[in-house]
Amino acid sequence: MATLTVTFLGTSSAAPTRARGLPAIAIQREGETLIMDCGEGIQRGILANGIGLGKEMAILVTHLHGDHVTGLLGLLQTMSMAQRSAPLKVVAPPKLKEWLKVTSELLNIGLTFPVVFVEAKPGKVLETRGLVVRAARATHSVEAFSYLVSEKDRPGVFHPERARRLGVPEGKLWSRLQGGRSVGVAGRTVSPRDVTGPPRPGRRIGYSGDTRPSARLTRLFSGCDLLIFDSTFSKRDAARAAERKHSTCVEAAEVASAAGARKLVLTHFSARYTSVAALVREARSVFPNTVAASDGLTLKVDYPSA
Ligand SMILES: [Zn+2]
Repeated sequence: MATLTVTFLGTSSAAPTRARGLPAIAIQREGETLIMDCGEGIQRGILANGIGLGKEMAILVTHLHGDHVTGLLGLLQTMSMAQRSAPLKVVAPPKLKEWLKVTSELLNIGLTFPVVFVEAKPGKVLETRGLVVRAARATHSVEAFSYLVSEKDRPGVFHPERARRLGVPEGKLWSRLQGGRSVGVAGRTVSPRDVTGPPRPGRRIGYSGDTRPSARLTRLFSGCDLLIFDSTFSKRDAARAAERKHSTCVEAAEVASAAGARKLVLTHFSARYTSVAALVREARSVFPNTVAASDGLTLKVDYPSA
């Protein structure tokens, strides 16, 4: 069964602290890596956590604020120094393209590979070998998006007794059916759906980026396995959260609860909090299965039944 992990590379908000870098997350599955936001310092986080700048990588940026973007140029430069040739998809609001063009020209950074821009907009924005990403508009002080990363459906459970009943001998033909292909037996065709249950939905990871809570995001994140949500402020700083278009830890918990998420991870903490233990406590009073992200934390996302 494929391993799906989330590694937090940076978990602070606008300014870094001694313990927390600027926002960046790596989602990994079967040799594929999605980088969600590129805060300054992301490269050290990538190295420290053994992420690797593999061929099968895509980058998704939630919005064009410095703390989510300024690590991108250096990352692309390092990829060029490693002679990357494979195209790299970057999903982001359209102005990112302009920023990258201007900064890379001014600094004379010639990239060795094509950057394929995908304009972030509501709906499906990316499909890779094993993952599909959908976006919805977030509510922030600039155009911003939240992303839902879904693993593609898995084939249904294989029922050996059905295969035997249909006269399919165990072995190669069973593997073919389990792999989703039809087989011929004694002049008849047996298709995978004759011997397997309905497809099983893949795991889903939601990432809010910077945002106020909203019904739209509750819908996007409905039933997700892991929800990573803006938790810039404690509930006692709720007025500030509203004014700066961020969320409190309790608002994050309310979205997780309303969406029926399985687990909530708080991140993007304001540098004003030396400890986030109180924020986790506040969130748990609304949504018990809550943890705080920290730089270097890796979480494995399991199937609900596991
Ligand atoms: Zn931010």
